[in-house]
Formats: sequence, structure tokens, C-alpha cells
Amino acid sequence: MHEYKIAAIPADGIGPEVIAAGLQALEALQQRSGDFTLEVQHFDWGSDYYKRTGRMMPEDGPEQLKSFDAIFFGAVGAPDVPDHITLWGLRLPICQGFDQYANVRPTRILPGIASPLAGVGPGDLDWVIVRENSEGEYAGQGGRSHRGLPEEVATEVSIFTRVGVTRIMRYAFRLAQSRPRKHLTVVTKSNAQRHGMVMWDEIAAEVAQEFPDVTWDKMLVDAMTVRMTLKPQSLDTIVATNLHADILSDLAGALAGSLGVAPTANIDPERRYPSMFEPIHGSAFDITGKGIANPIATFWTAAQMLEHLGEGTAAARLMRAVETVTAEGVKTPDVGGKATTQEVTDAVCEAIRGSN
Ligand code: ATP
Ligand code: MG
Repeated sequence: MHEYKIAAIPADGIGPEVIAAGLQALEALQQRSGDFTLEVQHFDWGSDYYKRTGRMMPEDGPEQLKSFDAIFFGAVGAPDVPDHITLWGLRLPICQGFDQYANVRPTRILPGIASPLAGVGPGDLDWVIVRENSEGEYAGQGGRSHRGLPEEVATEVSIFTRVGVTRIMRYAFRLAQSRPRKHLTVVTKSNAQRHGMVMWDEIAAEVAQEFPDVTWDKMLVDAMTVRMTLKPQSLDTIVATNLHADILSDLAGALAGSLGVAPTANIDPERRYPSMFEPIHGSAFDITGKGIANPIATFWTAAQMLEHLGEGTAAARLMRAVETVTAEGVKTPDVGGKATTQEVTDAVCEAIRGSN
């Protein structure tokens, strides 16, 4: 019997609703499988915690999380707390503190969920986007001078290191190698950005030699948006910088039907620290408390978490259950259905219990 310690941080908006749904599915999986248990501890960090204490999490927050096997995260952001406080106060310190440098975002069209692309259905779009999660355009370097004056200048400096680019490239090639098509697309903007992006291209070519069985190609990020839209079948595994992959994965989520089905994993591939699993979407205050948040992104990231923990059978069972339920048309309004979060969750738990 494997036992795992999970830290649940539901946080803001629809975060608590989707995390509650995810935990119900995980509970059903434990009962069905019988060979692992999850010991879940809840942390009430987030914007409400900030309003009470002036911090998004306690100062020793990361220290408290260190001994967990994984972190199951909802969403951060509140209308009355500035984004830089919510993001830099909770999510980013965890990603950076635990060196979760690989952000992994699977995208595929689930049965019963329509893509906005005409004639594109399940099987036509099956990607994993690997986002560099520790440096690049979001390194936070730069500054402003002459603030508010006509001569004001602001710089936003991207940082790319050989260590950082090599390790994400290796991760992406290894992931591509583990998938049936064994194909990687490396995205840059090396025609216009002549330093960091050219280094990306060079390091991709170097790392590619370690993976002779993986085919790969290069795309400029602007052309990549066209290829994703017009030739989704031609792509499989994709690696891109922090900013580029941020944008491409929103596009990918929309092409797969909704942000509400898009999962993400923030991985420390060396397993020195816990990795963090979350839906891509934010706190979505417009639908908070209405009971209609789509829990599928959270189920999917729960499957990523199980996979990371070594429970691949349970992960596959969870995704089969999700696909059974979407195929039956039990769906929330964002993907064209009428079901509530709880109805989708109950249907998924039922499919888990009835699975072989
Ligand atoms: P944040 O600022 O934290 O990113 P947000 O208010 O911008 O949050 P997002 O979560 O990024 O909202 O999503 C944008 C919109 O997509 C939401 O307003 C919501 O209507 C819809 N949406 C997002 N997630 C879901 C979901 N799980 N189920 C249904 N609709 C969703
Ligand atoms: Mg948003």
C-alpha cells in the first residue's frame, strides 16, 4: 500500500469548488484501486487569508509544504486584491522556491466536447505543451526611470541561461520520446530576438543529438499560432519559453473547447521538492458560487498528479472516467452542457466505481 501526503491549497474564487470536486474523484479512485491512499491536508491560504493577515501565506509557507509528496492547487486572484500581490504572494514563490521548472500542459479534444475548429475532433488535436517555468521573460528583471515624465523608459529583461534552457529542452525531448509519435516542435522567435532565442535554437540542436529516435522541428511563435489553428494534426510535443508557452497554451485550451478543461503541472523533474498540480484557469469570480465551474481541468491535473506519484493505472482510470462522462454529454455550461459541477463530479465518481 502506497501512502502519499497531499497539500491542498484551494485558494480563491472557483478554486475551492474545483478542488472539492477533484478530491471527491481522488477518493473514489482510492476506493476503487485499493492499493494507495492519499492523506490530504488543507491550507486556507489565498486572498481571504491576505485580508486577515496581510500575507497570502505564512512566511514559512514553503517550509510547511516541503515534506508533502505533491501540492493540489486551485486558483489565485480576487477582484479586490492586486494581481501582483496574489500571484507573487502565493503561486510564484511555490513554483520558484521548489524549482518547478517544467510546466506541462496536455491538451486534447475530449469526446463530446466541440472544438471551435470546424471538422476537428478527438484524435486531431493531441498535444503536450512544455513551458519553461523558471526564467525567460518572467524573470522579473528590469526597471523604470523618469516615472511619469515624457522621457520615461522601462526595461523588461528576459533572462535565458544555458543551464535553464538545456534542462527544459532535455525534459521536453524525454517527454516527446515517451509519446507514440516521438516528435518535438521547438518554438522561438529567433529571427527578431537575436540573443536568447538563438541560444534556444542552438541548445535544441545539441540536445536533439541525445535523442536520435525523436524527430523535431523549429517554429517561430507567430507562425506557430497559424499551424496550431490550421494543422493541429501536425503537432505533438511542443516546448517554448515562459511567455510564448503562456500564450500558446491559452490558445490550445480554447481550441480544445474551453479553459475549463485545461490542466497544468508544475514539475520539479529532479524530485527534490514537491511538484504542484492545478487547472490552468484562474479564479473566475464571474461564476464563483454558482456551482457551474467545470471540474474537468482539475480532474485532469489530478491525473497528472497520480502519474507523477507513480500511480499511472489510477491516472488512466480517472481520464477514462472523464471521457466516458463527456461522451455521455454530462457537461457544464462552458462546454455547452447544463450540468452542475456536482453533477459532473458524481458522474465521474460513478464511472470510476464502475470501471474495470
Ligand atoms: P484570473 O485573474 O485568476 O486569471 P479570471 O477572472 O481572469 O481569473 P479565468 O479563470 O482566467 O478568469 O477565466 C476566464 C473566464 O473563463 C472566466 O471569467 C470564466 O467565465 C471562464 N472559466 C474559467 N475557468 C472556468 C471553469 N473551470 N469552468 C467554467 N468557466 C470557466
Ligand atoms: Mg485570467
